[in-house]
Amino acid sequence: NTHVVLVDLGMGHLTLTGEPEAAVKVGMAQAVPDDVMINADLIKDLADVAKDQVLLQGVLMRVQESPNSSEVVTYAPFTLFPSPVPKAVFLQALAVQTHYNTLVDKISQDQDFLKEALASTIAVDDFAARLFRIHEQILKEGRSQSIVLGLNRSDYMLDQKDGASSLRQMEINTFAASFGGLSSRLPDVHRHILKVAGQLKQSQNILDNNPAAGLAKGIAKAWELYGSDKAVVMFLVEEKQRNIFDHRFIENELWMRNIPTVRKQFDDVYNTGFLDQDKRLFVDGHEVAVVYFRNGYMPQTYTSEQTWDARLLMERSRAVKCPDISTHLAGTKKVQQVLARPGVLEKFFPDQPEVVEQIRATFAGLYTLDMGPEGDQTVAMALAAPDQFVLKPEREGGGNNFYGSEICQVLEGVKDSTERMAYILMDKIEPKPVKNYLLKRDAPLQITNCLSELGTFGAYVRQGKNMVMNECVGHLLRTKSSEHSDGGVAAGVAVLDNPLLI
Ligand code: ADP
Ligand code: MG
Ligand code: MG
Repeated sequence: NTHVVLVDLGMGHLTLTGEPEAAVKVGMAQAVPDDVMINADLIKDLADVAKDQVLLQGVLMRVQESPNSSEVVTYAPFTLFPSPVPKAVFLQALAVQTHYNTLVDKISQDQDFLKEALASTIAVDDFAARLFRIHEQILKEGRSQSIVLGLNRSDYMLDQKDGASSLRQMEINTFAASFGGLSSRLPDVHRHILKVAGQLKQSQNILDNNPAAGLAKGIAKAWELYGSDKAVVMFLVEEKQRNIFDHRFIENELWMRNIPTVRKQFDDVYNTGFLDQDKRLFVDGHEVAVVYFRNGYMPQTYTSEQTWDARLLMERSRAVKCPDISTHLAGTKKVQQVLARPGVLEKFFPDQPEVVEQIRATFAGLYTLDMGPEGDQTVAMALAAPDQFVLKPEREGGGNNFYGSEICQVLEGVKDSTERMAYILMDKIEPKPVKNYLLKRDAPLQITNCLSELGTFGAYVRQGKNMVMNECVGHLLRTKSSEHSDGGVAAGVAVLDNPLLI
């Protein structure tokens, strides 16, 4: 019963575009010297070695043509070289993560705050409104599970407009934060590439990273507390499962602890799911201890009332939800904007000014578009200098934001109506580009101006009032061409990377 895995690598052409000399004047340290960076023959060889390495490590994705089959797979897109990240900001991001865990958890328990923060958004955004209705229903019925499992990823870019490097949070993902699995295997890939490139010393500067183990540790803790050996961890997955290998690394960590996992979809839950008299959730005959949502953050997922019913069934159940509906809402962009208002963080950490300071130090400028003079001011500010901002709707998954002239187009259409409340405005973060090669299937091999986004994975488990686990469990670096404003590996723009601390 052996599966033949035909690996489809695509054709890599080597084309050096632009002027390499200009490229090396960027000034930011690179992983390899300039002569390596522009040596076309060497780069071609390194790219071949690199693709074999990611395949050997299992940094894989299914192909678009057959997203539900592992007969033909390819590598997840990645950078040829690791990208430089200043050590101080890297450590800053790791250090603030447990505070973000605490913050998200506190927000999820503060119904008055959520209601007030999201009032304008849910007035105009049907998807957010629908989620909020589930949240209210659960509050009305009373939560049937006191164990809370949070697995999140806080994403940052470096603001380097004025020569400094300031860590700025893009957003925090409390729902289906991905690439913890694949990124766990990437350090060895870049170490190997650097050695082959003659950079042994640099190769030793690549940090270990194992979010898969840390995320699984959180899930395992929640499963143990649930307290039934036979109950499973249910990965709630999408219909098209290209990124299954990212999940598999976490599943494997659970199986190693003899914790059973199953993969189910919304339809499975709708068709076979039920709650027993104690609100225990059963799906396809399995008692579910933990629902780990890897799907359900986009409106398109909810194709019918049945999908919504399935979501509600899971939320009402005694299974531990990762995330529960309130923690899902705590990760919205509107909540992020409200948190940036003066005095709000202080309410969550009344006796910890140092925590407030540490979190606030990572905030970019965030502006309301609610009706009223403050929102009017935001509109005027954005229209006057659209290149300095990003306009964000309440959506997830990459590719939803507006930049530059698009901001004007959208705002001109909505600025006088309540529709504008579906968005927030944010300062645009501008890192300095660094040269690298992005290895993507069927894409030409060319030297590229790149921008990176750093993520840190948080894992926490609370039982009632007790935080029983609160950790930063790893990091993720994603890198994209500076030609693209929006990112996202799943969206096909960004690729996986490793930080090289400088
Ligand atoms: P999503 O939930 O869709 O991932 P993000 O807030 O992460 O939403 O935005 C998607 C992408 O847009 C980011 O990965 C980043 O590339 C870009 N982006 C978002 N916010 C900013 C910002 N303030 N400045 C510059 N780029 C941004
Ligand atoms: Mg997001
Ligand atoms: Mg994002």
